[in-house]
Amino acid sequence: MADFICPNCQAHIAHDDFVKNFLVCNHCGYHSRLGWQERLRFTADEGSFTEFDSAMNSENPIGFPGYREKIAELQRDCAAREAVVTGRCTILGCPAVICIMDSRFMMASMGSVTGEKITRAFEYGTEHRLPVIIFAASGGARMQEGIFSLMQMAKTSGAAAWHARAGQLYITVLTDPTTGGVTASFASLGDIIIAEPGVLIGFAGKRVIQDTIGCTLPDKFQSAEFVFDHGFVDTIVRRDELRPLLARLLRLHGKEAPLTAVSSQGCDYGPKPSIPKLNIVQRLELLRNLGRPTVHEYIPRIFKDFTEFHGDRYYGDDPAILGGIGTIGDIPVTLIAQVRGRDIEELKRVNFSMPHPEGYRKALRLAKQAEKFHRPVICFIDTPGAYCGVGAEERGQGEAIARNLMEFMTLKIPIISVVLGEGGSGGALALGVCDELAMLENALYSVISPKGFASILWKDAAREQEAAKLMKITAEDLESFGICNTIIGESEGGAARDIDLTAKNLSAFLLETLKRLTAEEPETLPEKRYSKFRAIGIFSE
Ligand SMILES: [Zn+2]
Repeated sequence: MADFICPNCQAHIAHDDFVKNFLVCNHCGYHSRLGWQERLRFTADEGSFTEFDSAMNSENPIGFPGYREKIAELQRDCAAREAVVTGRCTILGCPAVICIMDSRFMMASMGSVTGEKITRAFEYGTEHRLPVIIFAASGGARMQEGIFSLMQMAKTSGAAAWHARAGQLYITVLTDPTTGGVTASFASLGDIIIAEPGVLIGFAGKRVIQDTIGCTLPDKFQSAEFVFDHGFVDTIVRRDELRPLLARLLRLHGKEAPLTAVSSQGCDYGPKPSIPKLNIVQRLELLRNLGRPTVHEYIPRIFKDFTEFHGDRYYGDDPAILGGIGTIGDIPVTLIAQVRGRDIEELKRVNFSMPHPEGYRKALRLAKQAEKFHRPVICFIDTPGAYCGVGAEERGQGEAIARNLMEFMTLKIPIISVVLGEGGSGGALALGVCDELAMLENALYSVISPKGFASILWKDAAREQEAAKLMKITAEDLESFGICNTIIGESEGGAARDIDLTAKNLSAFLLETLKRLTAEEPETLPEKRYSKFRAIGIFSE
């Protein structure tokens, strides 16, 4: 076989090496386009694929000259009747409906047959309660079929809606290129949207955009990375990692694991009376220390198979809030966490733990996704407050926080919030509408940071410590007010001294609370949650 010449870096690669590397350039990582046969081979378990609707053929609905001949020629070249091949298979043992679009077939444009086959694949998934995975690739709607092709966008989106209503998982994998009417229909509707690196993803063609607005386009415009930065893709994954990821996601969305596998009985996770309590000023210092463990230290110690998802699907991905799914003691859960920086680089990247509206919107998206799959939500609070800035106001910081307070109140799934460090203002509360609120022993939770308090009430931010003493913001204070339900012990001298021990306590609390809350009727949770918040307030009359 001839060498492969990479169109991106012009390297010559021996055919066998290229195939072994999933048809990805060994030099620059360029992901070449795949025919449906290779994609199937790289994805499905051998011999597990059963094809659907293999005999369905295109007609020529508007009498487009030469259309039939073109289709006949492509059918011979691609060994497929149309631009999509559909069927069911298993992936590392997990069953799924799979649709593979093949860009060699008229740039995988969507006509009646492609639309119908994808619709039937969704219907099969709905009827048999199976997840659907679509490998999208397309130039858009098929103009040779006129208005019939446009209507396939609505038809396939409708089929996706009924599949979603049946509570089934839908994953899209965006490959090179995913554009036009396919981007503007089923390809953008996955519960989880994955993209291969560097691929073209967009709605309108670059040339059309350039001609319309007459200016140069930004760097990496319409690349997977560009779309990721703007919040529309959950994760970008190399081809060699795709199959294990898909299998993991299918497993995490399978039948709920039995809770009997979990044991936390007799585990005491509260603060040890033998450990002297730190005073408020010491706690404030402790929380400011860059060595204090963050969500990144707790994830590997508490969660298994954790997979991070990104983006709010509106504007961007906010690194100040991390979200994803994993398991605790075999229970699949969604984690939503504010991220503290551990060094100056990370502090800047996570905007000093001050989320933007897109962070809160990502949190809500993932919480709604959790509700669809009956998965409990765990929130880790660790922020001095929501970001104050022009962009945050332009994109509706207040609306984003308010929306979360309202929507989290009625989610029919258990919600557990834990304050890890500082819990400041509405920016913290946006992840704090929950069934059970816990605080790490030295965490603080307040209406505003002590510094903000001093600066607003006394016009003197330097009086921060004095403010902290006055504000009643420790875990003990909040427990005495009936707002914090549980205090989780830290190691002596703070969580950083023994991260494993603090993580063990946190894990034991989460397990026990998950067991208790998942045993309750999901329908009753919102009512109890509201009653809890409804009862908060001190007044006389
Ligand atoms: Zn290359």
